[in-house]
Amino acid sequence: MNILLFGPPGAGKGTQSELLKSQLKMTHISTGDLFRYALKNQTPLGIEAKKYLDAGQLVPDSVTIDMVRDVLGRIDGNSFILDGFPRNIAQADSLEEMLKVLGLKVEKAIFVAVPPNELVERLSGRRVCEKCGATYHISAMPPRVEGVCDRCGGKVIQRSDDRREVIEDRIKVYEQNTRPLKDYYREKGRLVEVDGRGETEEVFLRIKKAMA
Ligand code: AMP
Repeated sequence: MNILLFGPPGAGKGTQSELLKSQLKMTHISTGDLFRYALKNQTPLGIEAKKYLDAGQLVPDSVTIDMVRDVLGRIDGNSFILDGFPRNIAQADSLEEMLKVLGLKVEKAIFVAVPPNELVERLSGRRVCEKCGATYHISAMPPRVEGVCDRCGGKVIQRSDDRREVIEDRIKVYEQNTRPLKDYYREKGRLVEVDGRGETEEVFLRIKKAMA
């Protein structure tokens, strides 16, 4: 089964996608990760995306859609999770077209719900390994040695868009652009809402149930 995960920034989509990837062997497609990877490698796509990422704004649809089309075109038949795409109605419409052309289907659009006050706390305390992408939280899940990744020994840093000044803009962008996707997928009969609060494992069980 192919799914998409959407919800506010900080809802835990990335963490849950990693679990789906490791436990259910699904392919994880994260547009945020793809942009960050391109930026790290200073490709034209990364350089173009940088100003939007830093400001917490959406990268233009044309750029984002082309990137996803390319990735989906190379899917080798494995089940996939779309994480962070689509982020607005125009992207959702494009996704429908792409999937049709490729003969693919996204069966469930899983909305991960977390209340706004918790999002700010989660995002401002979030830290990530710049090498392997492992995620930490300064109080809820700090690395064993401060600033050093447990998994690979890489440097643990704060994402530039997890600074407080940017978080509010990202939440606004979500409210305006992404939240309307709930109605979009409800009308298509594919929406499942999952409570994103609580332990990572608990949320994962809810997602697996939503996929059943
Ligand atoms: P994320 O890792 O999903 O929080 O995404 C980080 C940033 O990447 C976002 O704030 C946007 O600047 C950009 N981004 C990720 N996905 C998309 C998308 N579907 N459309 C436009 N911009 C995106």
